[in-house]
Amino acid sequence: MSVAVRFAPSPTGLLHVGNVRLALVNWLFARKAGGNFLLRLDDTDEERSKPEYAEGIERDLTWLGLTWDRFARESDRYGRYDEVAAALKASGRLYPCYETPEELNLKRASLVSQGRPPIYDRAALRLSDADRARLESEGRTPHWRFKLEHTPVEWTDLVRGPVHFEGSALSDPVLIREDGRPLYTLTSVVDDADLAITHVIRGEDHVANTAVQIQIFQAVGGAVPVFAHLPLLTDATGQGLSKRLGSLSVASLREEEGIEPMALASLLAKLGTSDAIEPRLTLDELVAEFDIAKVSRATPKFDPEELLRLNARTLHLLPFERVAGELAALGLDDADAAFWEAVRPNLSRVAEARDWWAVTHAPVAPVADDPAFLAEAAALLPEEPWDLSTWGTWTGAVKARTGRKGKDLFLPLRRALTGRDHGPELKNLLPLIGRTRAQKRLAGETA
Ligand code: GLU
Repeated sequence: MSVAVRFAPSPTGLLHVGNVRLALVNWLFARKAGGNFLLRLDDTDEERSKPEYAEGIERDLTWLGLTWDRFARESDRYGRYDEVAAALKASGRLYPCYETPEELNLKRASLVSQGRPPIYDRAALRLSDADRARLESEGRTPHWRFKLEHTPVEWTDLVRGPVHFEGSALSDPVLIREDGRPLYTLTSVVDDADLAITHVIRGEDHVANTAVQIQIFQAVGGAVPVFAHLPLLTDATGQGLSKRLGSLSVASLREEEGIEPMALASLLAKLGTSDAIEPRLTLDELVAEFDIAKVSRATPKFDPEELLRLNARTLHLLPFERVAGELAALGLDDADAAFWEAVRPNLSRVAEARDWWAVTHAPVAPVADDPAFLAEAAALLPEEPWDLSTWGTWTGAVKARTGRKGKDLFLPLRRALTGRDHGPELKNLLPLIGRTRAQKRLAGETA
């Protein structure tokens, strides 16, 4: 049987690092096993689901290279959920309940105040036909709960190991709302069963759902998949990420923070595993290194500073072809491999290349506070064409003529040629600046 996994976001907001990590882990798992990856939009919450969020999810996954082999949308499948619900009603596993939210809150509060778990008391199961008829004549419409079997539920989780729940310790879940809409707990199982999902890899916030859903799989006659529940990412202080979603959305990491897709993927593939975090330039490398057994149960911390450092290390390795589009989008259409190789060691974000483009291709006000020395150096500038050896030849001649060396030799030249104290190696920059500009800058002119 071939491996099939799914990533099932609700299009009710932007994808953030926590969600997309689960997408990535599912995708890597599928690729490693030669299986397939389904993107499923859990969009049955019609008030909160928005087309722009669905588009955003597809854009973010595409940007990361997480292509999907299959696509499904829950809102296309209401007919199927109705069919399954009808069968569960017929077999008595789905029963009508008439409590209002207020009544349920009171019941819960009373149980909690007695120190008991807030498990639904199944009062609705004790209603007679006459009771139901009366409630309905009062205008109440039922919601429907799934009748759990009070037996142990067990599975071997790929991350958590053996997991055990007692059915009697769980509340019968509501699967159909009062307005007839099916809820996630049901729809997810129907989809996973119909689409032959073999492995459900999701966050540990779903562990209790899994116990319930295993019984639903059994009730609808679906094969129970293998489960893996990953600990959720927290921030550096151990707080959940949910409060800071805005700044940690994939869209803002891409558009505002200038994060490269492979930097994000390299971090998220390894966070919370026993592997060291290293920049990788292709998803194939991450597939080769992936093994779900490396995912630890400890809570992984997401640190934006670590991501930015990894972004810098990624840029230092990326070849020109991989950033040409981004450079063009910055307006640097004429940037070439020589420019990119000269400046990439100094970048944390591609957008910073603009500053170095200005140094090599636009007028710069030089810092020329040692004019006599700079004039001597200018007189020794070799004729063009210039290449990567020109800087060495030229500064060798300047050294021989002036007797200067080290910082005394190089710093005044750097400050005159670039207007700054630091930057990419001048061996690489000098041919890009060119002889005409170099001569003027050494003479203290803005050029
Ligand atoms: N739509 C659910 C969520 O985003 C999917 C959970 C699951 O993977 O089953 O939490």
